[in-house]
Amino acid sequence: MPSSLVTVGPGMRGPALEGARPRGPDPGHLPQSWQFATLGGYAATRSAGQSSTGVGRFDDPVAGLTLATPTGVLELGKPPASAAGPDLLDLALGSEGALGIITELRLRVRPTSRTTTYEGWSFRSWAAELAGLQRLARHDLLPDVVRLSDPDETRATLLQSTGAGSRLLRASLRGRRHGQGCLLVVGWEGLPTIARARQRAATSVLRDGGAIRLGSRVGAAWVEHRFAAPYLRDRLLDAGLLVETLETAATWTALPRVYAVRRALHESLARPGRRPLVMPHLSHGYPTGASLHVTVLADRDDDLPMQRWLTAKRAVRASATRGCCSRTEPREARHSFGRFTVAQAGTGRGMPSLDPGRAGASSSITLVEDAPVRHLRFTGDIGRDVVREFRLSVRPASWPSRVDLSGVHSMDSAGLELLLHLARKQKRFGGELEVVEPPAPLRRLMEQSGLTRVSHWVIADADAPAFPSEPSPAATA
Ligand SMILES: Cc1cc2nc3c(=O)[nH]c(=O)nc-3n(C[C@H](O)[C@H](O)[C@H](O)COP(=O)(O)OP(=O)(O)OC[C@H]3O[C@@H](n4cnc5c(N)ncnc54)[C@H](O)[C@@H]3O)c2cc1C
Repeated sequence: MPSSLVTVGPGMRGPALEGARPRGPDPGHLPQSWQFATLGGYAATRSAGQSSTGVGRFDDPVAGLTLATPTGVLELGKPPASAAGPDLLDLALGSEGALGIITELRLRVRPTSRTTTYEGWSFRSWAAELAGLQRLARHDLLPDVVRLSDPDETRATLLQSTGAGSRLLRASLRGRRHGQGCLLVVGWEGLPTIARARQRAATSVLRDGGAIRLGSRVGAAWVEHRFAAPYLRDRLLDAGLLVETLETAATWTALPRVYAVRRALHESLARPGRRPLVMPHLSHGYPTGASLHVTVLADRDDDLPMQRWLTAKRAVRASATRGCCSRTEPREARHSFGRFTVAQAGTGRGMPSLDPGRAGASSSITLVEDAPVRHLRFTGDIGRDVVREFRLSVRPASWPSRVDLSGVHSMDSAGLELLLHLARKQKRFGGELEVVEPPAPLRRLMEQSGLTRVSHWVIADADAPAFPSEPSPAATA
């Protein structure tokens, strides 16, 4: 801590780190998944929190980490700084488990914010709002928190808030010809004198751009509901709606054109007499651009829900690529490179091979019923698609207690996660998962990352007799 560095385990969650306060560390990272996501997950995905405009994405506070890979353990990052050669730390950040498992993190932390001020502003139009934010960026005055809603999201936000205060606010906005306007929530955090000075300077720039200050009540309402949207999403899904989000990052010049993706979503998801609700907002401001996050609510077609959404995403991608400059690759999910984009762009991001000699094997997870011991046979490259297909076709009630990994060519984090789930299922019924003959590099990876220390599985040879504790499918149904 004297060097503003703390070492944490990758499984720690935001609230646990927060619990170490007030003396404790504060990387200032608050994504909407803060209550459940892990610090290792933040680093593996280059997560961007709600204050990322001020404190940066989670890769910024990572000063170093330990990565367990199939070929050995790497210690990456040399705080306080090093100019000796390329920095492999960047390779691990955002690698999403494809290169190895992050087993320890060294974080740069700051003193807990002594002041936090959040407030709302209104702009008459989206174009004016974009220009206002861009001006702040140009003068290096972007607040720590920036959330800039378009007219549709603003309308939905204002209609959701009830009570006399919000009725008055709506009436006042209409009276000042901001009835179709856009809401901006901004926040300043840090040492009081510095935060106040930044706020004063930004206020005059916002006023010059024609914005109206709505005050701290709007900011307080945002803080109160900052983690609420995913819970609302679950209720809406239960009510039979399609609810999804998309995110991309673009330069200030490209943003107005990228904003056109909302038309593609409207056209793709509209049904006779039923229009989808498409709600874009800007968050995570950078000097050169910002990220556009779009929340979509539409009628759900329960026969083909995934196909409908994938068709809409294809339309979005076509629109974003058309609208966007050729050098700015539209991206999804917290500005990262999702699998959908990889497939569409044809830029395959390979999993590290465990045995190059066996490349090309067809990949599957098969339930083998006609062997002396029922088991799952993993063959080829075990990635997200293979795991998804398995999960769709074999119900957990039928999962056996033995898996044969001898035919695995490569495995990514989705495969490792499935192994953990298979082991946890056995543990629930008092048994253990038998993992048969993992190839040596995979075995090493499991050992180095600590997976083998999970007490509810054993690594066995193919000839080993069945474990007596295998629960029968009937017992587990
Ligand atoms: C409701 C909701 C809200 C969200 N809001 C935000 C947000 O505001 N900002 C944001 O950036 N993201 C957000 N996300 C996405 C996600 O929560 C974050 O990206 C988070 O950083 C992922 O952490 P996790 O622990 O949930 O990782 P997981 O989802 O479990 O894993 C994500 C990926 O990282 C890999 N991984 C995880 N841990 C490790 C490790 N120790 N070593 C190597 N690889 C690892 C996994 O294998 C996987 O590929 C949200 C997600 C949800 C569901």
